[in-house]
Amino acid sequence: MKYLIFLFTCFGIINVYSQDNLEQQFIDIEEKVIEWRRHFHENPELSNREFKTAETITRHLKSLGLEVKTGVAHTGVVAILKGNSPGKVVALRADIDALPVTERNDLPFKSKIKATFLNTETGVMHACGHDTHIAILMGVAEILSKNKDKIRGTVKFIFQPAEEGPPPGEEGGAKLMIKEGVLENPKVDAIFGLHISSDTEVGKIEYKSGGIMAGVERFVVNVKGKQTHGSAPWNGVDPIYISAKIIDGYQSIISRESNLLVEPAVITVGKITSGVRFNIIPESAELIGTIRTLDLDMKKLIFKRMTEMTETIAKAYGGEASIEFQENTTITYNDPDLVTQMLPTFEKVAGKENVVLTKAVTGGEDFSYFQEVVPGLYFFLGGMTPGNKNAFPHHTPDFKIDESGMLLGVKTLTNITFDFLNN
Ligand SMILES: [Zn+2]
Ligand SMILES: [Zn+2]
Repeated sequence: MKYLIFLFTCFGIINVYSQDNLEQQFIDIEEKVIEWRRHFHENPELSNREFKTAETITRHLKSLGLEVKTGVAHTGVVAILKGNSPGKVVALRADIDALPVTERNDLPFKSKIKATFLNTETGVMHACGHDTHIAILMGVAEILSKNKDKIRGTVKFIFQPAEEGPPPGEEGGAKLMIKEGVLENPKVDAIFGLHISSDTEVGKIEYKSGGIMAGVERFVVNVKGKQTHGSAPWNGVDPIYISAKIIDGYQSIISRESNLLVEPAVITVGKITSGVRFNIIPESAELIGTIRTLDLDMKKLIFKRMTEMTETIAKAYGGEASIEFQENTTITYNDPDLVTQMLPTFEKVAGKENVVLTKAVTGGEDFSYFQEVVPGLYFFLGGMTPGNKNAFPHHTPDFKIDESGMLLGVKTLTNITFDFLNN
């Protein structure tokens, strides 16, 4: 009998009580979340320069009585919330940086901030919606702090700078946070993060098992030929002609060699530099491009075959060529077991009809680096007014978010934390 009462208390009564009680806490916090978001929207800061943003976050986390560490990966803020009983460790991550974009929206809290980026004066705008991510996670931190008696385990709040990439020559973002030990002490068991989406209706959650955002690489190819008069190509080796053959070869890796039933993949050559004059076959050519992959094996195949084609095609036409890859982000890979485990939470919070299995996105996200170390789940949150046919894409001056979508983010991350730690 005693045991039964214990069971009821643990899984029944408290649970029902806390859900009702939580619902009220969510309703109460929405206004604050919107207010925070507007503050950050009006005061955006570029990657690795999120000084004031970090101060505001820190002030809030300290007011909640959390253990706070600042200056992680330059301007990152990490806070620890210990539940009343020991258990697993869950990390929740929000990215905090803005972009060199001049806002065109007519909002009372429109950004008027200017900064210098790559020696050019530019407007600064939260044109990717990271302002909503900060506000959502601040709300989650507040609610979880007030309910720590119901938490079995530890919550780590990670406010991450420079998701859009640190300025050239600087380190930053998720990679640097990991290097500085953000996933240790205490060791994180699973990490969760979200991205607001300007073209997903408010109230919806989009998820996908496996690769949800692409691994992003930049590549540079150097082709060496032999310069000669344009009228007599037989006297030289034409690097422009070799480049054309190489580009053609690359596209055959996607269309003929990659199993596109597994995941899509993209190779794009975005820049070609060669030659000076119509009647000179130049000495060399340079190709610069990007690769997007969603599956690690496909990524390996593409790298291997691009390297082989670069070298052998050039050789076949009498020239030489080499390729270099530079990783921007790795594949944002949702751990399939974690997705299965948390799907009921998504459905409980958003309603089954609002949880949508989505297609992958060929853009990148540095949340992926956390997922290389610990199992992680990254999902998209609706931020578009239902019925809006003119949603502007992220990273544009007209990008806009419907703030009423944020509360679902607070609810989802809060419930994920409870369900992951307590079950
Ligand atoms: Zn972005
Ligand atoms: Zn973003």
